[in-house]
Amino acid sequence: MTTHPSLAAIAEYAGGGRGLDEATVWSIEVHLEDCAECRARLAGSAAADTLALLDRVSAGLDREIAAGPAPARRTRRWLAPRRRWLVAALLPWVTMTVAVLLCALGLNRLLPELPSLVLLLAPVAPLPGVAAAWSRRLDPAGELIASTPAAGLTMLLRRTLVVLAVIVPALALLGTGTRTSLALMLLPCLAFTAGTIALGALIGVPRAAVGLGTLWALAVVVPTVITEDLPVVLRPGSAVLWALTAVVLVGVAMSRAGDFRRLTSHR
Ligand SMILES: [Zn+2]
Repeated sequence: MTTHPSLAAIAEYAGGGRGLDEATVWSIEVHLEDCAECRARLAGSAAADTLALLDRVSAGLDREIAAGPAPARRTRRWLAPRRRWLVAALLPWVTMTVAVLLCALGLNRLLPELPSLVLLLAPVAPLPGVAAAWSRRLDPAGELIASTPAAGLTMLLRRTLVVLAVIVPALALLGTGTRTSLALMLLPCLAFTAGTIALGALIGVPRAAVGLGTLWALAVVVPTVITEDLPVVLRPGSAVLWALTAVVLVGVAMSRAGDFRRLTSHR
């Protein structure tokens, strides 16, 4: 457990935290989640008029609850974790991606002279789902995430994992039908996911996903389809480079965690 924040800092936090910098507010918030002692100190450090207001609100709520209809039945417990892991907005994007990959496999059957289209699309396959996971517009829980950055970031990273948990096995499965190496199928996919989150810290994840996807399409997919020749970046020798790139980009994405606190990434 980290050291407890000072009483002065807790009092400042209770008063709205205007005198504290963002990092301090963040660390107090995270600490309070785990420390009952400091939660008690926070409750004790509220100003007298705040306590009086809370009393009035609490008495009012008690009256209205007593007068109101019986409470709705609790949501079944198995539904709750699903909501945290898989927002309904992700499903259409992930399903669409898998459908596109299936079409790519079908096209390859029709045009066997083309290099594997699944291999060509693999690096950008998770991007629609990742963009949807981080898009405030598509997310019914967006307001909640903005108000609790600690829980919000975890939720968004979990959803990125959900996207990968669907896309990675799909790619592995579709790849077995072709003669492409699994490493070249999955490493660029991981590198692009980490790259999107790293770049997204600066310009917003959905924008980063569109930018990197477009870049890949113009620089690699279109020339490959025209020349019918597998690009250098997807030839067997480049797997090591992709592994290194993926490791570096995951590192960069993790080191940018501070930027995600402000959630400029979540536009
Ligand atoms: Zn404490």
